[in-house]
Amino acid sequence: MAHPTEAVYLHDSSLRTLTTEIVSYQPISSLSEDEKSLAKNVDPDDSAITTRQTILYPQGGGQPSDTGSIALADQEPSFVVSLVRKTSDGRIIHFGKLNNADSASFVEGQSVVQRVDSARRDYHSRLHTGGHILGVAMQILMPDLKEVKANHAPREACLEYEGLLYNDHKPSIQAKVDELVQQDLSVAVSWLEDGAAANGGKFGDGPVRIVSIGGLDQTPCGGTHVERTGLVGPITIRKITRKGGVSKISYEVAETF
Ligand SMILES: [Zn+2]
Repeated sequence: MAHPTEAVYLHDSSLRTLTTEIVSYQPISSLSEDEKSLAKNVDPDDSAITTRQTILYPQGGGQPSDTGSIALADQEPSFVVSLVRKTSDGRIIHFGKLNNADSASFVEGQSVVQRVDSARRDYHSRLHTGGHILGVAMQILMPDLKEVKANHAPREACLEYEGLLYNDHKPSIQAKVDELVQQDLSVAVSWLEDGAAANGGKFGDGPVRIVSIGGLDQTPCGGTHVERTGLVGPITIRKITRKGGVSKISYEVAETF
């Protein structure tokens, strides 16, 4: 387990199956302490697979992990992936277990087929794009307010801003968000070759992935998105709460649309 995993979802998040190759397959108990610490809420008797490439999104950037499966190319039973995490050196680990005790094992170099649980991915992508739409709405309505945190997980989705916002702000935020969904704007993913040079160091060194809602913003982001704002469906601004000078705007999207 040495080379970074090629994160195919960054370049094509529409892929739901991919044929790739096993790099490693091992019990969680044989991982390093750092790697084990990534396997939160995973059965310690489960295993860990890394592959040359992956289409499965690892938890991060406020977006929860994908689930899915990995199977030998020409065979059923498969490895059920319950959690995907990225290591600090860029390897993406799929945690899970074989769905049948008699299943064949995996060895380095074997060809395998990955599958993403589509309904879960679609919901997460719509929630994530919904968060960016809310961010654009806030940028239009209150351009001086600084966004400090974003979460795009089901039932926890929110953006946080420095400063005080109240429920009185809700109707105007809701109306702007509705308008941006109604306009069915494009959600474009592009790459800045040198984030530092292009933005005065704001986005850090090296290539930076930029997501833009209808050209209205330039948000560095590694998450998965739907292709147009209309595909998010209705976004509901749930509530606005305050804590220590930071305001949290909670939102949700319908689980299916
Ligand atoms: Zn994002």
